[in-house]
Amino acid sequence: MIDTVLKDDWELKQTIALGTVAVVCLMLCGLFGHRWAMHGSGSQRRLVEQLQKRGILKSERVIFTMLATDRALYTDRSPYTDAPQPIGHKATISAPHMHAYTLELLADKLTDGASILDVGSGSGFLTACFARMVGSTGRVVGVEHLWRLVQRSTENVRRDDPNLLSNGCLRFVLGDGVLGWAEGAPYDAIHVGAAACKVPPKLVEQLSHGGRLLVPIGCPGRAQWLTQVDKKPDGNEETHAVLNHADQNITFIGS
Ligand code: SAH
Repeated sequence: MIDTVLKDDWELKQTIALGTVAVVCLMLCGLFGHRWAMHGSGSQRRLVEQLQKRGILKSERVIFTMLATDRALYTDRSPYTDAPQPIGHKATISAPHMHAYTLELLADKLTDGASILDVGSGSGFLTACFARMVGSTGRVVGVEHLWRLVQRSTENVRRDDPNLLSNGCLRFVLGDGVLGWAEGAPYDAIHVGAAACKVPPKLVEQLSHGGRLLVPIGCPGRAQWLTQVDKKPDGNEETHAVLNHADQNITFIGS
C-alpha cells in the first residue's frame, strides 16, 4: 500500500518535472525563434568580421566603432545581412559595407572634437558612429527631411546610448539637407546619405578648410559614384569619384 502511494507520488513528480521542462522549452523556442526570424542567425561581431575579411573594414577605430554600434538597434529587418533595409517612408538604412566604406573614407576627419554633418540621417546608425568617433567634445548634426525619421533615429540612439544625446554631442534636426545646416558650420566632414545629380554647393560652402564631403553623385537611371570633395587648407577644392555606387538602390535627395 505504502509502496503504491510512493510510486504514484514519484510518477506525479516526474510528470510535473517533464511538463515544466516542456513548457520552458516552448517558451525559449518562441522567444529565440522570434528573434531568429527577425534578426537572422548573425551578430554584429560576425558582420564586422566579414567586412574585415573582405578588406572593407581596416582601421582599428572604425572596427571598434562598428562593433559598438549594433545594427539591430537601428533596424528590425535582417540587421546582420549586408544589404540595405527599408525603414519606412520609402527610405532605407544603407548596407553595412556602405557604412564601413564611409567611415573608413572619413576616418581621418572623425577625430576628437570634430564637427560633422550627416545629411539624410535616416535610421541614425551612421550618425551614432560619427558621434562615437568624435567623442564627447565633438559635435554631430543629423539633418533629415522626414519628421518621422527624425523621431525614429532619436529613439534608436536613445536605446543605443542615451549619453550621445544628453551630452550635447549628437542631435537630429528637421530640414532640407541640400541646404546643409548653417548653424553648425563649418564642418570637418559632411556625409550625404541620399544621391544627387550634382554636388550641392551649400554643402561645399559649409566645409571647413581641410574638410571632406562624401556624396553619391548620379542622376536617376544613370551610373552613380560616391564622390569625395576635399576643401584644401587654401580653400581650393579637389573632387574625385571614389566608389561605383551602381548596385545601391539609393534614395534620391528630396524623395
Ligand atoms: N545613412 C542613412 C541613409 C538613409 S537613406 C542610414 O543608413 O540610415 C537616405 C535618407 O535621406 C532618407 O532617410 C531620406 O528621407 C533622406 N533625405 C532625402 N532627401 C533629403 C533632403 N533633401 N534633406 C534631408 N534628408 C533627405
